[in-house]
Amino acid sequence: MIIVESKAELQRWRHKQAGLVGFVPTMGALHVGHMSLVNACRMECHATAVSIFVNPTQFGPHEDFNRYPRPIEADAELCERAGVDLLYRPAVAEMYPPGSQTMVEPGAVAQRWCGAARPGHFRGVCTIVLKLLNQVAPHRMYLGEKDAQQLRVLRQMAADLDVATEIVGCPTTREEDGLALSSRNRYLSVAERVGADALFRGMRRAQQQYQSGIIDVATLEKEFRTLLSYEGGWALEYAAIVDENTLEPLTVFGASGLFLVAARRGATRLIDNMVITRPQ
Ligand code: AMP
Repeated sequence: MIIVESKAELQRWRHKQAGLVGFVPTMGALHVGHMSLVNACRMECHATAVSIFVNPTQFGPHEDFNRYPRPIEADAELCERAGVDLLYRPAVAEMYPPGSQTMVEPGAVAQRWCGAARPGHFRGVCTIVLKLLNQVAPHRMYLGEKDAQQLRVLRQMAADLDVATEIVGCPTTREEDGLALSSRNRYLSVAERVGADALFRGMRRAQQQYQSGIIDVATLEKEFRTLLSYEGGWALEYAAIVDENTLEPLTVFGASGLFLVAARRGATRLIDNMVITRPQ
């Protein structure tokens, strides 16, 4: 594996690649969820590039940019062991040199949910991902379904701006109890980790209730909120069953809906999602 920190070195590597190049963008603090993307990439592509960049423009002024974990040695070792070919770790000044002033402004699918809770977040995400795509020029980019709105926003950006890279969505990797793996899980205290699977349990219960005939969206959302408040230790941000394409709230169920949730456990903000499907 080679590790590069500049666009120039990255481009030298890129020019030598003859086959399919796959790309996994990350913010580091790598875990098994990230590695599932790397594995999918390695299965399908000749060369796998991973980026680690904690992108300042997608964090709000009072968010966790400064304390976001940056275990660079452990991350490099994980990549090496997973068979990554190139690890790109640019500094902030490499990605945003003095004088840069252009940002990518996403549209309607970025407005609600995390977009509303974190103003400017998806503008930062779109901008950095488009820059990385232009720099790495991969044939395929692998993204996690864990960040469902991000995946939807980036697919929209790719379609609207004629991005040539194919976007591949990969399923969410979970702990045994159902907690979705996330770099932010390491913020949870031992006490907070107990019961942190409630988001997953609540969504799974909604799926079971839907299958057993409760088809009213508002009832399922209310049941979810009730479960979280019984559990204790949660501050719910949103819990909504939405149209998978528009991400607008569903009032009536069709064949399926996407359950999107975000909640704080102590100081840690966790998000998750699940597709809720009609009984067969
Ligand atoms: P991040 O480092 O949090 O920006 O995530 C980098 C990529 O990994 C994104 O495409 C995420 O959706 C994906 N990802 C994060 N957690 C998981 C998970 N538990 N399962 C699958 N993909 C994930």
